[in-house]
Amino acid sequence: MKPSLLASLLSLPAVIWIVCCKPASPTASTPTPDSHVTTAEEQAALTPDEVLQQFKAGHERFIKGQLTTRNHSEQVRKSAPGQFPKAMVLSCLDSRVPVEDVFDQGIGDVFVGRVAGNFVNEDLLGSMEFACKVAGAKMILVMGHQHCGAIKGAIDDVKLGNITAMLAKIKPAVAMSQSFEGEKTSANPLFVKHVAENNVRHNIQIIREKSPILQEMEEKGQIKIVGAFYRLTDGTLEFVE
Ligand SMILES: [Zn+2]
Repeated sequence: MKPSLLASLLSLPAVIWIVCCKPASPTASTPTPDSHVTTAEEQAALTPDEVLQQFKAGHERFIKGQLTTRNHSEQVRKSAPGQFPKAMVLSCLDSRVPVEDVFDQGIGDVFVGRVAGNFVNEDLLGSMEFACKVAGAKMILVMGHQHCGAIKGAIDDVKLGNITAMLAKIKPAVAMSQSFEGEKTSANPLFVKHVAENNVRHNIQIIREKSPILQEMEEKGQIKIVGAFYRLTDGTLEFVE
């Protein structure tokens, strides 16, 4: 056998490997997964308004079906030494409200507090103070949602085990909603929405009243406290004034 032919045959497996097994290079349709994790410097440089804009932009990507592709295992590894989240979101327990996805945020980007009916108590106020005063988050977002079972339960005055005491925390929002024109029952989606929005307003007021730390941070422009209402039917978000 000629030496040149032998060399060609020996290199054949390498050629086959390169052709068959070489990982596909990223193209426009398959972007490289994002492995970035928010750093202390990035968190410190952000203003509360910029955080809100980032969350609004992330929500636009969510509703357009353009969520960021993330390398979660890499983000897990990078975020382990420390966290520098941009915001704290208080959400309902509801399984149909995927908080991180709704704002297209990754590992280490957002503190999430969850309780049926998204109300604050001492423990959640403490969690918010930790998130903002200790850990540097720049925004608190209280998020209610459409067709909320906890809101309906409070309207219906449901009594069952520990649920009774939990729903009592939502009753002030029902009381705030008595001027609603129309059927004031849990069967009326417009009334349920009205109470859910008042529940967001009421809890933002409680945050300001019961947390001098957060109130002062808000007054100094160090944080922003905002409310929102998430629609289960189409994934859109309305900000609650
Ligand atoms: Zn709910």
